[in-house]
Amino acid sequence: MQYISTRGGIDPVPFTKAVMMGLADDGGLLLPRTIPRIGSDTFGQWKDLSYPKLAFEIMSRFIDDIPGTDLRDIISRSYATFDTEQVIPIIHQGPLHIMELFHGPTLAFKDVALQFLGNIFEYLLEKDDSVMNILGATSGDTGSAAIYGVRGKERINIFILHPHKRVSKVQEKQMTTVTDSNVFNIAIRGTFDDGQAIVKAIFNDLDFKEKQHLGAINSINWARVLAQVVYYVHACLHISSHENDKATDFSVPTGNFGDIFAGYIAKRMLPEGTIRKLMLATNSNDILSRMVSNGDYSLGDVVATSSPSMDIQSASNFERYLYYLLDKEPNRTNQAMMQFAETGEINLTDFKDQIQRDFITEKATEEDVSTCIRDFYKQYGYIMDPHTAVGVHCALKHQEKGIPVCCLATAHPGKFGDTVEAAIEKPLELPDSIAVLMEENRESRCELMDADRNDIQEFVKKHSKHNC
Ligand SMILES: *Cc1c(COP(=O)(O)O)cnc(C)c1O
Repeated sequence: MQYISTRGGIDPVPFTKAVMMGLADDGGLLLPRTIPRIGSDTFGQWKDLSYPKLAFEIMSRFIDDIPGTDLRDIISRSYATFDTEQVIPIIHQGPLHIMELFHGPTLAFKDVALQFLGNIFEYLLEKDDSVMNILGATSGDTGSAAIYGVRGKERINIFILHPHKRVSKVQEKQMTTVTDSNVFNIAIRGTFDDGQAIVKAIFNDLDFKEKQHLGAINSINWARVLAQVVYYVHACLHISSHENDKATDFSVPTGNFGDIFAGYIAKRMLPEGTIRKLMLATNSNDILSRMVSNGDYSLGDVVATSSPSMDIQSASNFERYLYYLLDKEPNRTNQAMMQFAETGEINLTDFKDQIQRDFITEKATEEDVSTCIRDFYKQYGYIMDPHTAVGVHCALKHQEKGIPVCCLATAHPGKFGDTVEAAIEKPLELPDSIAVLMEENRESRCELMDADRNDIQEFVKKHSKHNC
């Protein structure tokens, strides 16, 4: 499989190049040249596969430059770190199927992709006898999942900036208690946006980027999307065997459009009618929801909510969908993205019908979220985190009679305990992995620094890994 850029400015590259490139060199996003189609016979044969085996079947259709035995090994190591043999359990609660994506090391769905990405990086660096210094800024979830994806890996150092005292206690501990010598946590005196701006500026120093072998882990890496395609297929197989092959809807709490875009790829890949609609659920940061309901893709201000991993306006994966919406024409995609950079909006009114063939949408207010957590707990005894609740709120509102809905549960409720406890009005039982983090005297390692680009660049240079 070859990969092309949404902006058409690069020669096609194989999978491993696409992973190492991250963002395409022309500023676009990488996509497979074609989306492989899965026939109903093949789909039927996948019914009893374990999660890693299913992952191999799907991924190997997108990857032809890693030998099968190696790919199998990478996949199996990536999902052996999950706390259940099923890797991603799907449970039936009330009228919904709930797919629990939070059984990885940091209790949020980003582990599904970042455990895999960390192992792919390690494998490719080993092959090239090279090293990488990963630099990223986080508002909480991505940083810890990335750190757990690469901790202890010999050829990789990782530098993660987080805003000092502005991430939750659990998120902070998840990052700073990782004391492997290749992990560098930097708490900056500033906001997430300050961190993001510093990281961007350092990446723009191309000479530095090359000399220090800088690598990124952000959600635009194609390997992350690919790892997420797998669980949509996993859910379809599960639900079709429980519900007599009915078409399924998915409800997806959405921020950067990465997770739901993986659902869109799965929808195009699977036999017609396997996935019916994708429900795009947002919190008050509703640019994507407005896009679906009336074609209005225009930036608003970012507001802080109880589902912070979705407090995003400019969704970094949206360009991939736009490319398909614009008939896979790089020139039109390029033009639309340039217009967005200039004016902060793209008018998609003319595409409304086309968009609504694939998507349904709903936005949840803060009150909707806490009501949803409370009522669902009262009725069914199931406790969910605020991100998951954004999706469940949407699902309950739009579920159609006779059509199964699968809600993506993207974080463990214990990760956002304060909001959840306030909603259910009782203390949460914390999972062991969080309880252990909160113990006093846990060893931790973190550098507190000013939000100063030069200081941070110097720090990275001083501690970066070099080819020997
Ligand atoms: C990142 C994240 C999301 C949003 O996923 P996107 O791929 O950015 O749309 C939702 N829930 C949780 C818990 C997350 O960490």
